[in-house]
Amino acid sequence: MVRVSILLGLAPVLVSATPVPADGFSLAPRETFVDCLSAGKVPMVLQSAANFNQLSSAYNLRLRPRPLVVTLPTTTTHVSDTVKCAKRYRHKVSARGGGHSYSAQGLGGIDGSVVIDLQNFHSVKYDPKTQLAEVGGGARLGNIARQLYDQGKRGIPHGTCPAVGMGHPSLGGFGISSRNWGLMVDQIVQVQVVTADGSLKLAKKGYNGDLFWALKGAAPSFGIITKFWFKTYSVPESIVNYSYRFQPRSVSEAVDLFMKIQTFARTAPKELGLGVSLWGSGVNFELSGAYYGKTQQQFNTLFQPLLNQLTPAPTSSTLDTRGWIDTLLRFAGSNTLSVPETGYNEHTTFFAKSLVTSNRAPIERKGMENFFNYAANQGPGAANQGLPWFVIINLYGGGNSAITQEPLLKESSYGHRDTLWNFQFYTTMSNGLSTQSNTAAINFLNGFDKVVRRSGDFSYVNYADPTYTRSTAQRLYYGKQLTQLSLVKKKWDKDQVFWYPQSIDPAR
Ligand SMILES: Cc1cc2nc3c(=O)[nH]c(=O)nc-3n(C[C@H](O)[C@H](O)[C@H](O)COP(=O)(O)OP(=O)(O)OC[C@H]3O[C@@H](n4cnc5c(N)ncnc54)[C@H](O)[C@@H]3O)c2cc1C
Repeated sequence: MVRVSILLGLAPVLVSATPVPADGFSLAPRETFVDCLSAGKVPMVLQSAANFNQLSSAYNLRLRPRPLVVTLPTTTTHVSDTVKCAKRYRHKVSARGGGHSYSAQGLGGIDGSVVIDLQNFHSVKYDPKTQLAEVGGGARLGNIARQLYDQGKRGIPHGTCPAVGMGHPSLGGFGISSRNWGLMVDQIVQVQVVTADGSLKLAKKGYNGDLFWALKGAAPSFGIITKFWFKTYSVPESIVNYSYRFQPRSVSEAVDLFMKIQTFARTAPKELGLGVSLWGSGVNFELSGAYYGKTQQQFNTLFQPLLNQLTPAPTSSTLDTRGWIDTLLRFAGSNTLSVPETGYNEHTTFFAKSLVTSNRAPIERKGMENFFNYAANQGPGAANQGLPWFVIINLYGGGNSAITQEPLLKESSYGHRDTLWNFQFYTTMSNGLSTQSNTAAINFLNGFDKVVRRSGDFSYVNYADPTYTRSTAQRLYYGKQLTQLSLVKKKWDKDQVFWYPQSIDPAR
C-alpha cells in the first residue's frame, strides 16, 4: 500500500498498489493474486518452483510463452476459484488440455497468462444405458479410445495422435473415420464448463444453448470445459486399411494423378477415409486411408475403377482388414494407445499451417501444378537443410460426408462445413531453435501455402499458425461463424478473461 498525502491538510488517503478488483468485492489488505488462489487452496506451481519450466513447456518447443502461474486443480471448485481470482486481478486465463496446440495456446500463447492445467481431469466412463461417454476435460485421445473400447467396444471419431487432449474436440477434431461419423466436436452432447464469472454450468442444446454452440468449435474463448459427454458408436471390427505409393516421373504426371483422385473424391461415399501425403522428397506421394464399409470386396468395387485410371501405377501398396484398435494404432504409428494420464513430458520442435478448400470450388489444375512444382523445386532443398517436411491433404468433403452437412452450422460454431480438402503443411526443425531456422521454416511453408491458396480458402483452427495476425486468424479459422461468435462472447465474456492472441473478440 502507498500512502499519499492530499494537499491542504486533508487526511491521508490510502491508495492500493494491488489491482482494483474487477468484481467490485473488497480485497483483504495486501492480498495478491497468489493469496487469492491460496485462500481457495488451489494447487499451483509458481515461476520460482523447481518444476515450473518442465510444467510450463509447450509440446512444440519452438514456442516458449512463460505463464504467470500454472494451477493444477483437482476439483471443479479449484477451476472456478482460479478463474474468479484471475478475473479479480485482470489476468488472462487459458486451459491446458493435452498441451499439443501448434501455437502453444494451452499456455496462453504469450507470457503472463494464468494456465489451468487439466491433467487431473482425465476420467473416461462409458454409460451403457445412454451410450454416452463421460470424459474429463484433461483426458487424452489414446486413453479415451482404449478405455471406451475396453468398457463396451465403443468408439468416437477423432484424430491420430494418442497424446492430443481435449483442445481437439473443442476446436474441431478430424480423424480417418470422420467422413463416416463426423468430427469429434460433432459428438459432444453436453458439457460442464466454468465460465468467465467463475461459475460452473451445464450447457447443452436448449440449455445455455448459445454458449454450448460457441463452445463446440471455439471453446478456448468461452470457458474451461471440465467434463464432456460424447455420443459413442459400436465400433466395426473389420475395417479395410489401404495405401498406395506413387512415384510420378514429372510434375505433370503428379498433377494428372491428383486431379483423378479429386474427381473420384468428390462423390466418394462417406464410409471412405482418404488422404494424400508427401514427405520431403519432391512429388512422390501416398494415397491412403481406411474404409468403414463392410468388406474388402466392397472396397475393391469402389476403389478399383479409380486405380485403373491412375498412371503410372502405384510402385507399392498395402491392403488388409483390421479391427478398430489396430486401425487406430496404424494411424498413430504406435504400438500402444495408452498415454500417461498425468506428468506427460514429450516435446518436439515444429511449424505447421493449414489450408481448407471449398467443396464448391475443387482445386484447379493450375493450383496443383503450382503445388507439385513447389514440392519438386523447393522441397528437397528444405529437407536437406534441416527442415524435414510433410504435407497431408485429408479429404473432409465430397459425396455424403458426415463432416460437411450444412445444417451442422447451427449445431456448432466449427466454421468450415463447406470443405473438400484440408491441407496440413508441417515441418520439424532438426537444425535447432535458432531464429534463422524458424524463419526458414516459416518462409518455406508460407510459400507452399501461397502457391495453392485462393481468395475464398480458409484454415483449420486445430492447426493454428501463430504467425497469423489476430484478425486474419479469426477470419480464416471461423469463417461465417465469426459474427455470431462475437455476439456470444459479448454475452458470456465481455471482459475477455479467456484471451489468447487468436481468441474471439466480443462484439462492440
Ligand atoms: C502430433 C499431433 C497430431 C495431431 N493430429 C491431429 C489429427 O489427426 N486431427 C486433428 O484434427 N488435429 C490433430 N492435431 C491438432 C490437435 O487437434 C490440436 O493441436 C489440439 O487443439 C490440441 O489439443 P490439446 O488439448 O492437446 O492442446 P492444448 O494446447 O492443451 O489446447 C489447445 C487449445 O484448446 C484449449 N483447451 C484444451 N482443453 C480445453 C478444455 N477442456 N476446455 C476448454 N479449452 C480447452 C486450450 O486452452 C488451447 O486453446 C494434432 C496435433 C499434434 C501435435
